[in-house]
Amino acid sequence: MGKVVDKPEYRETPIEIGKEEFRKIGYQLIDTIAHFFDTIKEYPVTRGESPLQLQKLVGNSGLPENGLSAEAIITKTTELLLNHSLFNGHPKFMGYITSSPAPIGVLADMLAAATNPNVGAQILSPIATEIEKQTVRWLAEFIGVSPNYGGILVSGGNIANFTAFLAARTAKGPKNLKEEGLNNSNSNLVAYCSKTTHTWVEKAAILFGQGSKSVRWIPTDSENRLDNTILSRTILQDQKDGYSPFMVVGTAGDVSTGVVDNLKEIASICEKHNLWFHIDGAYGAPAAIIHELKGIFEGIESADSIALDPHKWLYAPLEAGCTLVKNPKHLTDTYSSHPEYYNFSKEEEGQSLNFYEYGLQNSRGFRALKVWMALQQIGSNGYKKMIGEDIELAKLMFELATNHPELQAMTQNLSITTFRYLPTKGLPTKSVNKANYLNTLNETLLDNLQQGGEVFLSNAIIQEQYCLRGCIVNFRTSVKDIKQIIEIVVSVGAKTHQELNKSKQ
Ligand SMILES: *Cc1c(COP(=O)(O)O)cnc(C)c1O
Repeated sequence: MGKVVDKPEYRETPIEIGKEEFRKIGYQLIDTIAHFFDTIKEYPVTRGESPLQLQKLVGNSGLPENGLSAEAIITKTTELLLNHSLFNGHPKFMGYITSSPAPIGVLADMLAAATNPNVGAQILSPIATEIEKQTVRWLAEFIGVSPNYGGILVSGGNIANFTAFLAARTAKGPKNLKEEGLNNSNSNLVAYCSKTTHTWVEKAAILFGQGSKSVRWIPTDSENRLDNTILSRTILQDQKDGYSPFMVVGTAGDVSTGVVDNLKEIASICEKHNLWFHIDGAYGAPAAIIHELKGIFEGIESADSIALDPHKWLYAPLEAGCTLVKNPKHLTDTYSSHPEYYNFSKEEEGQSLNFYEYGLQNSRGFRALKVWMALQQIGSNGYKKMIGEDIELAKLMFELATNHPELQAMTQNLSITTFRYLPTKGLPTKSVNKANYLNTLNETLLDNLQQGGEVFLSNAIIQEQYCLRGCIVNFRTSVKDIKQIIEIVVSVGAKTHQELNKSKQ
C-alpha cells in the first residue's frame, strides 16, 4: 500500500455514467419507448418462440470480465425486449389478470430508482414514506372503506394476502403464539375460504407452519359464491371438534370468473364467531368504485383486512400489491420488533412510521410512487371511466359470443367473460364423446390462439367444460378489438376443428 498522499483524490469507477452520456442514451431510450407505446398494436402480442430459440438469443457466454459501453448494452437490450416479449400492454392481450402498464408508472419507476429511497424506515425515506402513507389512504378511499385503514405496498396479491393472513393469526390466535410458536401453543387453527379461492391460501398455510389441512375449502352456491350456510355449519362443527377457527377469506372478484362473494353475510358470520374477516380483492376490489356495483361490494367496509393489486386493475406496471388493515395496530403487533442496531426513534409526535414494522420486508423499494402518480394523473373519475369501459367491453364480448352461432357464451362477471367455440357440424354424436371432444377442441384452440400472436386469451374450467377466458384490465382495448377477437376465435376455431377431425381419420 502506498502512502495516503500518493492516492488520487478523485475516484474513477466503471459504474458512473457522465451527465452528457446519460442524457444522450436516456433520451434515446425514451424515444424508443415513446415509439413503442405509439405503435404497440402493430406488434404481435407474442411471437410464441420456444425456450430453446430464446436461449440461443441470450447465448451462453460466461460472466463478462470487462465491461461494455452503456449505450451498446441499452441498444442491444432494447432490441431484444421489443422483439421477443409478450406484451400485456397490447390492446388484444386479455389473458390471466395482467394489465397494460400506465405510461406515467413507467416514468415513476425510473424516478423512484433514481432517488432510491429505502422505504423500510422513515429516516431513510422522509418524503417517500409520506407519499406511501397517502397512497394507502387514497387506495382505501378508492375502494370505499374508511381512510383510517392503514397498510403497506407489497409486490403483489400473494404477498398482500400473506401479510394479512399472519396479522389475522396474531390477532385471533392464542395470545402466546408469537413467543411459543404453533407447536407449543396447543392450537388447532383453521381458516375458511371458498373452493374457488386463489392458491395463495394454501401457500400461506404451509409457509406459516399450519399445514395445508388447516384450510377449509367451502363449496360454492349456484352463483359460484362461497356458500355461507355451509360456512356457518362448518365453523360450528369445527368448534365442537376442538378446532380454533381464526379467519374467513371472502373473495371480491374470483380469479377464474370474477364472481364476488356475499361479503355482507360473511362479515356477519365473522362478527358472530369473533373471526378475522379478510377480503381477497387482488383483482376485483377497484371495481367497488363503480356506482352501479356498490351493491355487490356491500360489506367490504367491514373487512379487517383487504388485499388488492394496483398492478392489476389500477394499471400499475409490475410489481405493486397492497394490504389494507382496518386497525393497523395488528400489523405492528405482528411485524414489529426493535433490535438495538436500529436507531429509528419511536416518539416524533406519533406520526412517524417505519414500514418495516408493517410487513415482511426490511429494505423496501418505492413502489408507491407509480401508484401515487397514476392516481393523480387519472383521478377517481378517470378510473371510473376506464374500469367501467373494461366491464362494458367484457359484456360486449359476452353478447357477441351469445349471438354467434359457433360460440357459446358461458359467464360474465366484472371484466371477465368466458365462452367456448362450439362448431355446428362434425361433432361426435354420443354426449360423453362430444363433451370430451369440445374440451380438447377448445384447449387446442387456445394453444393455437396463443401461439398465433394475434390475440392472447387464457382459460377457465366451468363445470368441467374447458372455456376460453378474456379478462379485460386493459385501457388500450377497444370495441373494434373485441369484434376482431371474436372473428379470430371463430376462424382459428374452424381451422382447429378441421385439423382435429383430419387427424382422427
Ligand atoms: C392475481 C390474484 C392473486 C395473486 O396476485 P399476484 O399479484 O399474482 O401475486 C391472488 N388472488 C386473486 C383473487 C387474484 O386475482
